[in-house]
Amino acid sequence: MKKTDPLVFAATSDLAGITRGKAFPLSKLDSRMKKGVGWTPTNVMITCFDHIAPSPYGSLGDLLLVPDATTAVDLEFDDNAPVERFVLGDITDLAGTPWDLCTRSLLKAALDRLQQVGGVSLLGAFEHEFQFHGEVPPGPQGYSLNGFSQRRAFGETLMSGLEQGGLENDTFMKEYGTNQYEVTNGPSKGVRVADDAVILREVTRMTARHHGESITFTPIRDPAGVGNGVHIHMSFLDGDGAPATWDADGPSGMSALSASFVAGVLKYLDSIIALTAPSAVSYLRLTPHRWSAAYNNLGFRDREASVRICPVTSDDPEKIARQYNFEYRAADAAASPYLALAAIIHAGCQGIEDNLPAPTVTQEDLSLLSPSTLAAKGYVRLPQSLEEALERFEGNETVCGWFPKEFAPVYVAHKKGELSVIQDMDESERCAAYEGVY
Ligand code: GLU
Ligand code: MG
Repeated sequence: MKKTDPLVFAATSDLAGITRGKAFPLSKLDSRMKKGVGWTPTNVMITCFDHIAPSPYGSLGDLLLVPDATTAVDLEFDDNAPVERFVLGDITDLAGTPWDLCTRSLLKAALDRLQQVGGVSLLGAFEHEFQFHGEVPPGPQGYSLNGFSQRRAFGETLMSGLEQGGLENDTFMKEYGTNQYEVTNGPSKGVRVADDAVILREVTRMTARHHGESITFTPIRDPAGVGNGVHIHMSFLDGDGAPATWDADGPSGMSALSASFVAGVLKYLDSIIALTAPSAVSYLRLTPHRWSAAYNNLGFRDREASVRICPVTSDDPEKIARQYNFEYRAADAAASPYLALAAIIHAGCQGIEDNLPAPTVTQEDLSLLSPSTLAAKGYVRLPQSLEEALERFEGNETVCGWFPKEFAPVYVAHKKGELSVIQDMDESERCAAYEGVY
């Protein structure tokens, strides 16, 4: 008898930022690339707590989840366990039209808009922080060689897993928080930027499992502790593939295109944050003095800003142009990378379309300013709960208009369903609930 019949898992990263899908025999991969696997509309209402929020679709309808061969991941660990195989894909209707609630298709539409309004494509990467469960091992931890070395074996398996997953390895380090580590990968183009982020999260979880450990990317584990951020790095390439983000004479080095893009992101930040930091506990992280993001400001190398102009390591203009990038910091791993990036790209496109002027960079602690001074400078305190974030999202016609008509009501209904599960929990119970998921 043949020992096993390998299976491939075809996956979508859904509204809850969970990777869900179905497996089929590897031998059928070619035909499944064409015909997909069956998918059900109501699946989109399965919240992160695995309960179904009231669904507009009920038991009706059929969709296809069509794998994209370029995202296939084959992970062979050293422990005689079966090879982990998965592939990301798009959800379509039976005629092959992208489904209005397919997060990956929504990102593709946002990237098309960027090409149309800005004539540029995206080069970017997600940076992830996560924490191991269990006791803190002895010795110094934050950024230490000791803390790194205690997880070197994990880090090296992870690097090789990411490489097998088609990512370009960059860094692995002991972050500051309790049992907290950070992993970064090299930049990719277009939709692959978010594919990389989905693959990285799953490969990190699998690596932990194969090492007999468990990890969490949850936005925050303890209201008094450090958060796990997802920082999204972005730059632009023109039609010839040349960098288009930097201009030596632009304000803080921003090209006119990137200045308007960032201005759009800041203008709409309070209304898109429900898509980039979409859990109830995300808002415990997005508070001042946590090196996350609490206001809609642009910082020059400032880690308390929502959008940060990152440092460059050269004074050669060609190298600066290639390195210069922005980092969006008001995101976490409760968000599907596709949705978070789609929202940011649309906000930037709106800024380009409206020809918004360059935002000024802040170099002060905005939490010390009175609400009237803040307002006079054009800053808002970002929403402080998911409920508030959802209200701003739903209430902003421009923002809802960037997506297919069905998207906003379905997304909000999904999130309200999620909130109903935790409504009677206190902060630490909520943190524990999300930690159990992400
Ligand atoms: N842990 C911080 C966050 O929640 C980020 C720290 C850093 O700048 O890397 O985003
Ligand atoms: Mg970090």
